[in-house]
Amino acid sequence: SETVFTFGGNAPHSNARQKDKTVTGGKGANLAEMASIGLPVPPGFTIATEECLKYLNEGADFSDDLRRQVAEALAHVERTVGKGFGDKADPLLVSVRSGAAVSMPGMMDTVLNLGLNDETVEGLASASGDERFAWDSYRRFIQMYSDVVLGLDHGLFEEALEIAKEDNDYYADTEMSADDWKALVAEYKRIVVEELDAPFPQDPQEQLWGAIRAVFDSWDSDRAKVYRRLNDIPHHMGTAVNVQAMVFGNMGDTSATGVAFTRDPSTGEKAYYGEWLVNAQGEDVVAGIRTPQYLTKAAREAAGAKPLSMEEAMPEAYAELAHLFDLLERHYRDMQDIEFTVQQGKLWLLQTRSGKRTAKAALKLAVDMVGEGLIDEKTAILRVDPMALDQLLHPTLDPDAPRDVLTSGLPASPGAASGKIVLDADTAEIWVNRGEKVILVRVETSPEDIHGMHAAAGILTARGGMTSHAAVVARGMGRPCVSGASQVSIAREGRTLTIGNRELKEGDTITIDGSNGQVMAGEVATIEPELAGDFGTLMEWADKHRRMKVRTNAETEADCRMARQFGAEGIGLCRTEHMFFDADRISLVRQMILAENEAGRRAALDKLLPEQRGDFVKIFEVMTGLPCTIRLLDPPLHEFLPHEDGDFVELAEATGRPVEQLRRRAGELHEFNPMLGHRGCRLGITYPEIYEMQARAIFEAACEVAKASGEAPIPEVMIPLVATKRELELLKAVVDRVAQEVFAANGTTIDYLVGTMIELPRAALMAGEIAEVGEFFSFGTNDLTQTTLGVSRDDAGRFLTTYVEKGIFARDPFVSLDVEGVGQLVEIATERGRATRPAIKLGICGEHGGDPASIAFCDKTGLDYVSASPYRVPIARLAAAQASL
Ligand code: ADP
Ligand code: MG
Ligand code: MG
Repeated sequence: SETVFTFGGNAPHSNARQKDKTVTGGKGANLAEMASIGLPVPPGFTIATEECLKYLNEGADFSDDLRRQVAEALAHVERTVGKGFGDKADPLLVSVRSGAAVSMPGMMDTVLNLGLNDETVEGLASASGDERFAWDSYRRFIQMYSDVVLGLDHGLFEEALEIAKEDNDYYADTEMSADDWKALVAEYKRIVVEELDAPFPQDPQEQLWGAIRAVFDSWDSDRAKVYRRLNDIPHHMGTAVNVQAMVFGNMGDTSATGVAFTRDPSTGEKAYYGEWLVNAQGEDVVAGIRTPQYLTKAAREAAGAKPLSMEEAMPEAYAELAHLFDLLERHYRDMQDIEFTVQQGKLWLLQTRSGKRTAKAALKLAVDMVGEGLIDEKTAILRVDPMALDQLLHPTLDPDAPRDVLTSGLPASPGAASGKIVLDADTAEIWVNRGEKVILVRVETSPEDIHGMHAAAGILTARGGMTSHAAVVARGMGRPCVSGASQVSIAREGRTLTIGNRELKEGDTITIDGSNGQVMAGEVATIEPELAGDFGTLMEWADKHRRMKVRTNAETEADCRMARQFGAEGIGLCRTEHMFFDADRISLVRQMILAENEAGRRAALDKLLPEQRGDFVKIFEVMTGLPCTIRLLDPPLHEFLPHEDGDFVELAEATGRPVEQLRRRAGELHEFNPMLGHRGCRLGITYPEIYEMQARAIFEAACEVAKASGEAPIPEVMIPLVATKRELELLKAVVDRVAQEVFAANGTTIDYLVGTMIELPRAALMAGEIAEVGEFFSFGTNDLTQTTLGVSRDDAGRFLTTYVEKGIFARDPFVSLDVEGVGQLVEIATERGRATRPAIKLGICGEHGGDPASIAFCDKTGLDYVSASPYRVPIARLAAAQASL
């Protein structure tokens, strides 16, 4: 089938495959779309992603069919432009660009000005009447091609350019004359011969196929793989290749190139936003070589900058651009990120895509566009990435806190971060792995720095504008970033830096404020986030459209309050053992587990009862009227055992038992595989008095709060690690008996449920029978994943990354539910549980309850609620709404 698609000129534009981003990639599909609605797009063609996969998987050479299709498509471009590829008098030049279905900014390299050689450069010079421009284009081409296709270090070429400038006493590239460029081209070609023992390829066809090959190869480059891993982009999609006639922003002062957003991608404000450079090409704007100029007059004035804005310098081209911004926004019904070039006054569009945005901007855009009638509420809900909300839920710098401001740069990505200065990406990763918070400080960043940017709490660069690599990537990752802080000067050898006149070194703490570009010494105090405004509006819409309830996993009063603020509708998992580790209790817990008999255990439990009751009172007070699932003691007793000599001495004093006896007892409790050992309901079966005490604490607390507040919580007592109906039956009897005793003593009753966690495969399979006793199921998908896959979560780190890279798992199954495998057990248990007890309440309390993909699965399976950690509650609310749309 057709795998090469043309656009521009009289190219047909009805092809459904060409519009499909999985076939032509985002860039290719949008270029074709823009061309088809008559916008000024240089003509070109797109090679489908499947050719990339064929090339990578079969390692085969390009097929005759592909070569034929490319030749035909190239002929289309030649006809449209009226120039010949390789023509010595007036050559067609092209760009070769990658473009996957999902945008991967900066991940793959673009080659510009392809088709130039020692002969065509002369043709370009005479046809354009501009020798300097022709040789500038040629040197750019040799450098890019050598870097991207031939694999030479671009530093070699940069160095040669620096030397050339130094020799001539020039400061800027713009001072280079035609002859200077010519000389540099000769030097570049010499470098290629020296490095490769072969001349720079002169045959345009060889150049073209070399570039196509390089784009395909770039899909499998390390940095692309890292980016995909960090962004959960599947590895098997491949990239398309776009070959497009060149337009030139480097043809003098009536030419320019730029990038723009139709609205402010940091704040969502309705204002054109972008950067441009006169007499420049392609990546110049984002590369940070020259400082780009503002697009609009308003932005230039606000910044107090001198160089004219595009609005002022090129009013006509700007007016057309602004018109196209509005047109594209209405067409795609979303904020667009646009790349453009002006060639001798004529505007050309080179790319449009939905612009990356901060969470704050995403919310504002979604809410504003509903107000503008551009999209409806449902679309607005679907527009916001639930995970991005995370950025908004965390503290920002306290405006009243003192700030020791070192310098200011550009507010490239909002949010604030404090951390220790690190000067390279590897160090950032190492320090973060050992538990430090770091700020990555670089002259500028490049795709090789991605892992360090991801590890860092924030990013500071000395060079680069608002659309520089650092800015774009940081916004995408939700990392605060200050870019272009020109007073930052780094001395790499000494691992020191100066900011303004202050000396600093790696390891010193700084704070950056990505919302205003400030860089401060030390740590600055923070304040809690604002949950009203656009956030509140979108959440309201989400709540209206979701079916599932959202609860929280919490066991402290503070977490409960936080979760309710975030909209939690109850507790899905309260882990009682967390309460046992407190300093004043651990000794009592140890006395209990090291007791020789029931009487000894009861003595310790009696002292724990009021403590535990107090915990529940505090939780219930926050959660009145809401369901609270409380899990009875679950971890192996092993985890509570004393380790240090001092612990034993203390216990001996408290109990009056000899240290030796306590040590022996502790030895007896040692387990080889505690995860599958004496834990969960097995504790309740062997020592019912433990669960009895916990049940008593729960019901007494519930009665107390009901009496005091007039509204009772709804306890849902959860028995963990059940495999059989009989286990649940025995333990439910204990809980019910205690409940009746407490109710009788208080002269009141309270609604409650007894149910179980489904976290063993047998429990899922036997759910029909277990539901005869259990009144609710909560899927404990952490353990269910461990027990189903036979993988220990705590040990999986060593091999899981490799598993994900090799495509064995699409994602880490402890982060995102293995829907195909573990998911089946959830489905089976749901179906069988409901068959027995149609009204059975079903929820999920594993870590997966805060993961959007897993939440979508829960919705589809028909669960009643998901439960997530407090900060994930808004994420879950939004994801639940998206799932039901
Ligand atoms: P990326 O995906 O990294 O943005 P692109 O393929 O969009 O890479 O290319 C980067 C830049 O190169 C573009 O923004 C544009 O300025 C320039 N460019 C690409 N193709 C052309 C072309 N045909 N004519 C002029 N400039 C081009
Ligand atoms: Mg690029
Ligand atoms: Mg681009």
